[in-house]
Amino acid sequence: MARYTGPSCKLCRREGKKLFLKGDRCLSDKCALDRRATVPGQHGAGRKSVKEYGQHLREKQTARRYYGVQEKQFKKYYVAADKKEGITGENLLSLLERRFDNVVYRMGLASSRKEARQLVRHAHFTLNGKKADIPSIILKVGDVVALKDKSRSSEKIKGLMENMANTTAPKWLDLNAEAASAKVIAIPARDDVDFDFNEQLIVEFYSK
Ligand code: SF4
Repeated sequence: MARYTGPSCKLCRREGKKLFLKGDRCLSDKCALDRRATVPGQHGAGRKSVKEYGQHLREKQTARRYYGVQEKQFKKYYVAADKKEGITGENLLSLLERRFDNVVYRMGLASSRKEARQLVRHAHFTLNGKKADIPSIILKVGDVVALKDKSRSSEKIKGLMENMANTTAPKWLDLNAEAASAKVIAIPARDDVDFDFNEQLIVEFYSK
């Protein structure tokens, strides 16, 4: 399935939740969901009841869209989470949190996960000192992400570095704002996820 390239705000309106896909705009009074909280489409305003399957589907889509992951990849994460010891839903969120692009976003070096994905693809970062440009890489404890020296000259990146200096890192990441780097020091726990997912609904969606 091709990556969705339509308006990001439509995705928030579809899920009825702020997914924070557009950086600073999401926190401003220009947020489309704050202005028009109806499902997109001609009959969107009239849609109300959601059946059980619909609830499972919506929660899965919310998580997928929040992290910017395509369906096939998301299912792979679910299968991997299910194979691990522990609670499948929590394992799934932990994997999603440790995606390379999400780590860059959590470092404060991108205003949205979409921007983080683009920066990773454009090879602005190293992973453990080596070139890495695949946003879906899942980081492990001990991995170090760093901004490349030659990327620091761009005005855009300079602005993002200032943002990083004011970022409070999640406790599983050790930030070094001066070096524009971060080390994964723990596996993210459930309370490190800053979105109110009901991950059990996602597990039930795939368990049927
Ligand atoms: Fe969603 Fe952000 Fe658009 Fe608001 S501004 S609808 S939070 S993407």
